[in-house]
Amino acid sequence: MHDFYLHKGKRKILVEYLRDKVGISDENVLKAIGEVPRHLFIESIFQDFAYEDRAFPIAAHQTISHPSTVAEQTELLEIKSGEKILEIGTGCGYQTAVLLKMNALVYTIERQKELFDFSKKKLREMNFHPKFQSFGDGFSGLPEFAPFDKILVTCGAETLPTALLKQLEIGGKMVIPLGKTDEQILHRFTKISETEYEKEQFGIYKFVPMLGDTNS
Ligand code: SAH
Repeated sequence: MHDFYLHKGKRKILVEYLRDKVGISDENVLKAIGEVPRHLFIESIFQDFAYEDRAFPIAAHQTISHPSTVAEQTELLEIKSGEKILEIGTGCGYQTAVLLKMNALVYTIERQKELFDFSKKKLREMNFHPKFQSFGDGFSGLPEFAPFDKILVTCGAETLPTALLKQLEIGGKMVIPLGKTDEQILHRFTKISETEYEKEQFGIYKFVPMLGDTNS
């Protein structure tokens, strides 16, 4: 559980890569990625590669997203300090920590019990404090805490979860990969009114699937 100068140095190089090669320009996103110790969220055998632009297996056959994917999704959300964010797919908690570093108020849902338990413990140990961590199915969101300024879905959905759009504030944005299991297109929906949304499409990605109830 250490964060040495070696790791800080590697993070600096990763941030330069995200800025120069991936094209991330939101300085708050870059700053957060430069500060969150990604190596502490993954298994020790992968730690030497934690600051390469790679995804790694985490528990329950899931993956921690590539740093470039985390950066791109977070940049598309245009997060401002103090905003209320709903994250679907806590996974190991790395993306949650990036959002918290940006001073967002984070509500997050995970459907794999092992990852829910892991991320809950890990984030607290590292002094990251989400507003609420839920074990359950993200398709229904968290209506009791709605509306949210932003919603981030970190798994690929075959169909648009309309319950989530309903939980967005007017003017709010939802970033979600949509498509079949082998590839998805990253989408951003901006809520214009109770019934109108602007839809934008970005690149092609491969996320782990967004699954329904918590039995598999
Ligand atoms: N943000 C995570 C990415 C994890 S991968 C990280 O930084 O590690 C996506 C996660 O979405 C997986 O942990 C998976 O279990 C979870 N997931 C899939 N379907 C879900 C659903 N319906 N509700 C909540 N979480 C879901």
